Amino acid sequence: MDKRLIRTSVDPLVQRRLAINGQMGRKDLEQAQLQALRSTLHYALQHSPYYREQLAGCDPEQLKTYGDLEEIPFLTPHAITKQGHRLLCVSQSRVARVVTLHTSGSTGVPKRFSFSTDDLASTADFFLHGMHTFVNEEDRVLVLLPYQQPASVGELLIDALAGGGIHAEGMWPPLPGGSDLPQQIREGRITCVVGLPQHLLAVSALVSPGELRSMLLCSDYASPALRSRIEENCGCRTYLHYGTTESGLGGGVECLMHAGCHLRESDLLVEIVDPYTGRQLPDGVAGEVVLTTLGREAMALVRYRTGDIAVLDRSTCACGGVTARLRSIRGRMDGCLLPSGALLYSQDMDDSLFLVPGLLDYRVRLDRGSVDQLHIDYMAVPGFMEIVGDLMTMTAKVPAIRDNLASGKLVMGIFKQVDAFAAIHTLKRTLIDQRTAGELYAVCS
Ligand SMILES: [Zn+2]
Repeated sequence: MDKRLIRTSVDPLVQRRLAINGQMGRKDLEQAQLQALRSTLHYALQHSPYYREQLAGCDPEQLKTYGDLEEIPFLTPHAITKQGHRLLCVSQSRVARVVTLHTSGSTGVPKRFSFSTDDLASTADFFLHGMHTFVNEEDRVLVLLPYQQPASVGELLIDALAGGGIHAEGMWPPLPGGSDLPQQIREGRITCVVGLPQHLLAVSALVSPGELRSMLLCSDYASPALRSRIEENCGCRTYLHYGTTESGLGGGVECLMHAGCHLRESDLLVEIVDPYTGRQLPDGVAGEVVLTTLGREAMALVRYRTGDIAVLDRSTCACGGVTARLRSIRGRMDGCLLPSGALLYSQDMDDSLFLVPGLLDYRVRLDRGSVDQLHIDYMAVPGFMEIVGDLMTMTAKVPAIRDNLASGKLVMGIFKQVDAFAAIHTLKRTLIDQRTAGELYAVCS
């Protein structure tokens, strides 16, 4: 293997953006990152009415260590919806893009995140250099993400790659007509596909082994079972991307060692906190991801509670990279309450159900009869028509479901094969709770 390709390409990006000279060690990075944090706090205090109130009395120059961050209050999703424009650090005329995130349920108030042209340029910078870990000018990339709108995630990625001399094209919604895709990949000489895990699983079932070199899984939880099936189906290597709207769409990407997503620490400072006490947790312990944006122009986020669960690792990676890595990323843990009081998480469903050969995607619906019923709609690879038995077996193995079935408080409902699900990029809809009277439905996770 080419030695130059082994070390994560996120390190040189972070080093350049933090203006670190010479060889970058972990200490150099942390000193420069804390300096960027102090600058960000000065900027937020000066330009945002919300932070002027919230950080009143805070002297950014007193922040010397990551532990000192605990003195600063969290920013919650609720504050984002409530404070709205008061979070902005620029006039609205300088906002180049607003991303609206709809929350679960029928009554949720959307959250809005604003980005300036420079903010989008820093995301594009990360997209190109993050992708350099596993693609180069010889690759041709297919992006199965929304790309038609200006500054949409797909368009930013396609433009960023084009700027680096790498051909990229988009398709959204993915798989129109399904069977045309293998032809498009072959004729377009595509070597890398980027998209949501379940869409990439469908692609892996359609292409010939060896046709694709790599896939980048993004925007959603990727269960180990699903990843293994992709790699077994088409023989390509899979890489994870961690990124949310809040992180500026790009956050971190795996290196060739697959030992966690190297974070773009020049633009993001990540803490892991105990979800209940809010206290920082040591590296290696799973907790809630808290983000602080560094150098974000339009809307700085200071200690934003993402609700995502993951593990932080700041040790040197096997690739030699010193940028911190986010490992064991479980995503948002919004559970659906089962009659026993246990919570059902879509991540646990994914871990169990994607072990079933032939399963491409599914949705769980909880409905109320004489007792609660669990229905599953699912998509299967053509040729794997009879997977219902396996699906029922694996569903019953999910601990929260197993216990409820055993106590008779929940029964298996209808398992129905469908041709497609609506392609939604920003709102995961795996568990749909139809038991609550008066509401159309609530999306648990
Ligand atoms: Zn690495």
